[in-house]
Amino acid sequence: MAEENKSTLDPLASLCKRRGFIYHSSEIYGGMPGFWDYGPLGCELKNNIKQAWWQFTVRGREDVAGLDATIIMHPRIWKASGHLDTFSDPMTMCKDCKKLMRADQVEEIRAEQKKPHKDGCPYCGGELTEPKPFNLMFKTVVGPIDDPSNVAYLRPETAQAIFAQFTNVISTSRFQVPFGIAQMGKSFRNEVTPRNYTFRSREFEQMELEFFIRPDEATELLFGHVVTLADNPDLAGEPQQDWGWEVWHKYWVEQRKKFITAMGLPAEHFTEYWQKPDELAHYARACVDIEYDFPFGRQELEGIAARSDFDLTQHQIHSGEPQSVFDDPLKQACKKLDDAAKAAFIEKVQKEWVSRGKDPVAAEKFVKQLFDGRYIPHVIEPSAGVDRLMLALLCEAYEEQKLEGGDVRTVLHFSPKAAPIKVAVFPLVKKDAASYAMARDIFKTLRKKVNVFWDESGQIGRRYRRQDEAGTPWCITVDPDGAKDGTFTVRDRDTMQQERMDLATFLAKMTAALEF
Ligand code: ATP
Repeated sequence: MAEENKSTLDPLASLCKRRGFIYHSSEIYGGMPGFWDYGPLGCELKNNIKQAWWQFTVRGREDVAGLDATIIMHPRIWKASGHLDTFSDPMTMCKDCKKLMRADQVEEIRAEQKKPHKDGCPYCGGELTEPKPFNLMFKTVVGPIDDPSNVAYLRPETAQAIFAQFTNVISTSRFQVPFGIAQMGKSFRNEVTPRNYTFRSREFEQMELEFFIRPDEATELLFGHVVTLADNPDLAGEPQQDWGWEVWHKYWVEQRKKFITAMGLPAEHFTEYWQKPDELAHYARACVDIEYDFPFGRQELEGIAARSDFDLTQHQIHSGEPQSVFDDPLKQACKKLDDAAKAAFIEKVQKEWVSRGKDPVAAEKFVKQLFDGRYIPHVIEPSAGVDRLMLALLCEAYEEQKLEGGDVRTVLHFSPKAAPIKVAVFPLVKKDAASYAMARDIFKTLRKKVNVFWDESGQIGRRYRRQDEAGTPWCITVDPDGAKDGTFTVRDRDTMQQERMDLATFLAKMTAALEF
């Protein structure tokens, strides 16, 4: 984004409206705060992000399977996960202007006002009410009878369905820990103050992976050691069975960074924030936020959390259904231990658990189950928002470029993987039958592979500018000379240079740019 536009989303938002990336939901009725629709270019961009994530996270790996669960699930899931009791933001209201806002965002809102009031309500200076917790889950009623017993919730995250279906996936697939289950889809949060364009919406999409790993104690019994970060494991290589949780966690942080970079955010433009011990949820061992410098400030793009065995344990307690797995290699390894070695191991684990404020009796029970080859897996959770990554890609791509001669061109420098239109095809001279027919053939061939745009109207320069604004990486122009030898020019969006080539050469170039 150009320096002078860095502090505001306005030019980008107006381009997104004008070119059909993002519209207000229900606009003809005045819109709905926190709800957005994606137009023809926006839905292509969004689908590209989702498909790339699925390829990178699921299909491109041997150790991850997919899931597509319902948005409305049994309400007890949200009791077990803690969402019913604790998924709330502190809300305050102005007694004068009646505006609602998140109590922890009052100062932020004040800073955004052109003429802010110094005390009280940032909008009018009125008195604010005491903050009250406000649960962010959307409520609905299932079936025809509007009764509290039929209340259900729209899911506030996709992750819980993965835990709720964990035992089904494990018994109907051939996966063994370590392995992951991935899901993407809609989530809903009744945000008190949806703001910053699509950044904080009430309906949005998430892409979440729960990667299940052995507890470190099981890894130690199985291999006699646990690889830690101090051992300098090669995180770019294949994952290893003897990795401990902190290595798995760092591995997924690196994987996520690789994905984000491939989608078009250079590594130097986002940051890793490692949450401090006092910021972590009580069950989490580590959490990294990947943050991006949006025009409205540095904000979370996605998070990667090491969540221990908290979620599956909660579902085991609340459903009464065992969530543990049987690990035969672990059982076989433990069979080789004599009683003294077992007692020493129990004592060691107890000491370590006590140092983390945990119960020594529970430690003993846990280790004895390990000796039988049973445990509840721990989990690493990379959790990303589709809409947030899309907004970051738009901010990153947007440029109002001053050209020699004083012209300004608006261009979206999307990576080919993200670009909503990959190629535009133009016949240079509409009336030249041979080159026109060749251009149509190229268009039809490419259309079977990627999203292509056909444009035969207006000066060629205007056609290029239209594609620059859409972020199309390549424009193919077929001229009468090229029709004689089967070549055409390919104009690069960023350099604006043209190169002559044939279709086979272009296809190889495009395929290489789209592959992970
Ligand atoms: P925040 O602190 O910004 O509210 P969070 O920590 O509550 O986010 P998570 O619950 O960890 O977010 O959700 C995982 C991801 O889902 C976030 O990193 C973000 O990309 C996306 N996400 C969460 N809430 C929203 C929202 N209201 N609108 C758009 N995306 C969201």
